[in-house]
Amino acid sequence: MTSPIVALTIAGLDPTGGAGLAADLRTFDAFGVHGAAVATTLTAQNTSTFVSSFPTDTELLASQLDLVCADLDVAAVKIGMVPTAEILDLLSSFATRFQRLVLDPVAVDRHGYALSGSAERDAILSGLLPQCEIVTPNRAELAWLVDEELASENDVSAIERQAVALRALGAPWVAVTGGRIGTTEAIDVLVGPDVMTSWVEPRLVSRNDRGSGCTFSAAITAGFAGGSSVEHAVGQAHSFVQRALRGALDWQIGAGTGPLAQRLAGRGSEPGRA
Ligand code: PLP
Repeated sequence: MTSPIVALTIAGLDPTGGAGLAADLRTFDAFGVHGAAVATTLTAQNTSTFVSSFPTDTELLASQLDLVCADLDVAAVKIGMVPTAEILDLLSSFATRFQRLVLDPVAVDRHGYALSGSAERDAILSGLLPQCEIVTPNRAELAWLVDEELASENDVSAIERQAVALRALGAPWVAVTGGRIGTTEAIDVLVGPDVMTSWVEPRLVSRNDRGSGCTFSAAITAGFAGGSSVEHAVGQAHSFVQRALRGALDWQIGAGTGPLAQRLAGRGSEPGRA
C-alpha cells in the first residue's frame, strides 16, 4: 500500500470537536490525506457559548513546527484561528517552509465575538497574506481585512469588490463564503489572476454548520496536497461542504450549533489533480 499524502493544519482546538483542528482533521481524513496538527490556541467553548482562548506558548509552537516539518513531507498547510499578533509573526517566519499555504483568517466567530484586533490584522496583511496561495474569509472577515463596512449578504458586487481589494493587498487568490442571492440561494466567490468566478447552490439552512468555514479551507488544503489547481480545489471544497452540511441536517450534538458530517461527505472524495 502506498502511504497517504500529508497536510498540516495550524489552528485552534474547539473542545466540542465541531470547528478548528478536529474539523480539519476529519476533512483531511475524508479526502484520504493524513493530517498533522499544531494547536495555536486552546479555547473554552461549547456549541452555544464561547468563553475564552488560551494561546499556545510561542516557543512550544515553534518547536512543534520544527519537529513536524523536519520529519514529515508536508504537501500543503492550512492556517486557521491564530489568537495573537506574536503567533502570526512566528507563523509568517515559518511560511517559507510551507509548500502550498491556505490562510483561513478566523476573526469573528458565529456569536459575533471578535477574536482578533487591528494588531492581528496588520500582522496578517504584512506577514502571511503575501505568502499564502489562497485566503478564505467569510464576509465579516473580508470586511475586517480590507477595513471596510460589512457588505450586505445580497450585495454580491460589493463582496466581489472587497475580494478584489484584498487581492490587491497581496493574496494571489481570494475565496469568499457567505453571499446570498435572494433568500434561497447561496453564492461563494473566487477571485484570482484574471479570474472571477462563483458557485451558486440552493441555500441549506441547518442548525449544524459549526466549522463550515474550517471545513471549506481544509478541503481546499487537501486538494492542494493532492496537486489540484486552485479552481479545482475550491470547486471540490465547495461541493464537499454542501454534502457535509446535508449529512448533518438531522444531527443532535449539543444544544447549540453542531458539527458537519465530513465522514459522510467524504465517500468517494479524493484530492484529485485538475
Ligand atoms: N477555529 C476554532 C478553534 C473555533 O472555535 C471556531 C469557531 O468557534 C472557528 C475556527 C471558526 O469556525 P467556523 O468554521 O464555524 O467559522
